Amino acid sequence: MKSIAIIGGGITGVTTAYVLAKRGFDVTLFERHRYAAMETSFANGGQLSASNAEVWTHWSTIVKGLKWMLKSDAPLLVNPTPTWHKLSWFAEFIASIPHYERNTIETARMAVAARQHLFSWAAEEGIDFDHKREGILHIYRDKKGFDHAGKVSELLAKGGLPRHAVTPEEMKSIEPTLAGSYYGGYFTESDSTGDIHKFTNGLAAAAARLGVHTLYGQDVKTVQSNGQQAVITVAQEDALPSVHTFDGVVVCAGVASRDFAAQLGDRVNIYPVKGYSITVNLNDEQSQLGAPNVSLLDDETKLVTSRLGVDRFRVAGTAEFNGVNRDIRADRIRPLIAWVEQCFPNINTRSVVPWAGLRPMMPNMMPRVGKGRAANVFYNTGHGHLGWTLSAVTADMLGHVVSEATRETHVIASSLQAI
Ligand SMILES: Cc1cc2nc3c(=O)[nH]c(=O)nc-3n(C[C@H](O)[C@H](O)[C@H](O)COP(=O)(O)OP(=O)(O)OC[C@H]3O[C@@H](n4cnc5c(N)ncnc54)[C@H](O)[C@@H]3O)c2cc1C
Repeated sequence: MKSIAIIGGGITGVTTAYVLAKRGFDVTLFERHRYAAMETSFANGGQLSASNAEVWTHWSTIVKGLKWMLKSDAPLLVNPTPTWHKLSWFAEFIASIPHYERNTIETARMAVAARQHLFSWAAEEGIDFDHKREGILHIYRDKKGFDHAGKVSELLAKGGLPRHAVTPEEMKSIEPTLAGSYYGGYFTESDSTGDIHKFTNGLAAAAARLGVHTLYGQDVKTVQSNGQQAVITVAQEDALPSVHTFDGVVVCAGVASRDFAAQLGDRVNIYPVKGYSITVNLNDEQSQLGAPNVSLLDDETKLVTSRLGVDRFRVAGTAEFNGVNRDIRADRIRPLIAWVEQCFPNINTRSVVPWAGLRPMMPNMMPRVGKGRAANVFYNTGHGHLGWTLSAVTADMLGHVVSEATRETHVIASSLQAI
């Protein structure tokens, strides 16, 4: 197995392409947009946050979700119209609650391991992605939230991530621009932030330099495999579809991965969980001085922030279960702007760019990394709320799996020849 196709040019597809090219594979990446990272990897929260490794499969998420059902500006919103996809996803979500601790620890472990890969690739390839290594501060307004964070910290520590509690006074010295009164916080110095779109495009260019065929504007219609060959059909404007054959295929198609998996006889029950972001343009000196340099995570409102360069401030969050729907709703954007105005009163919010993206989320909140049913089919997808944080390590893991599968195929072929 030497030639590998990758479906999807978001962060997961591009990191996978880069890793496989470095391992000597002949890689072709198919992306339907004209550029890499135009869907969920476009304008996310920017956090490379091992400290956000807590999975959501907890009874408190269900309780909060029910409470928020009828509030249009709530952090979590579920369209109550039942669909088989949504019901099956929620049933599996609930079934995963007993594994909350194990999955949180494992996610933290992966997030910590991801850093060394991502940082070294950026340095090696000279990628500027507004990387800021100032840590992430989790903020709490009440004792209940703060106490829960204490328990989460114990799990994170088991995954290899130290973070420590800070008083409101210490919070003020960590991030002097933050207004408001707080019960306390947790600070993780080792976490960082950066622009996912810039990084993905930088790494896509590096992958192309390594020989990856990066094919943009290619809308993959079908994918099939007989275990030895994978056949990909791409739609063509005003012409018959083009057909491409490879030794293997990796599905990294974000929320479209579920459909491709179904074509390949696999079940990858990803649900599109919509989130929103705003990018506030810091056009004047007062706004630049009034915006935080340290990244924040407000656990109550479920908002995360990143300072991207001198003149951009990103705020992202909210979760909406409403199928494949990319509408940017004004009533979901407004709370993000109000939060900025409340927490950072010196920022001018005249120039704000809204965005919505669909998190490709597995019901157990763990990415699907590994082999499919057919011997030459692989998945690196379903990273949910932490795709930016985890993608470098899952690409590395997938690289091992594909290399191992190739070695096995080689051993079997050699044995057959010997017979
Ligand atoms: C509001 C919000 C905030 C977030 N904040 C953070 C954060 O702070 N930190 C963090 O770690 N994560 C965060 N995330 C999650 C993270 O952004 C995602 O997990 C990650 O971007 C998913 O990457 P992906 O490659 O799986 O999907 P995508 O980026 O969506 O890439 C999939 C690609 O497949 C392509 N594709 C699909 N179908 C086809 C087809 N038929 N033919 C060809 N190409 C196809 C798409 O065009 C797309 O480019 C956030 C997400 C959201 C929505």
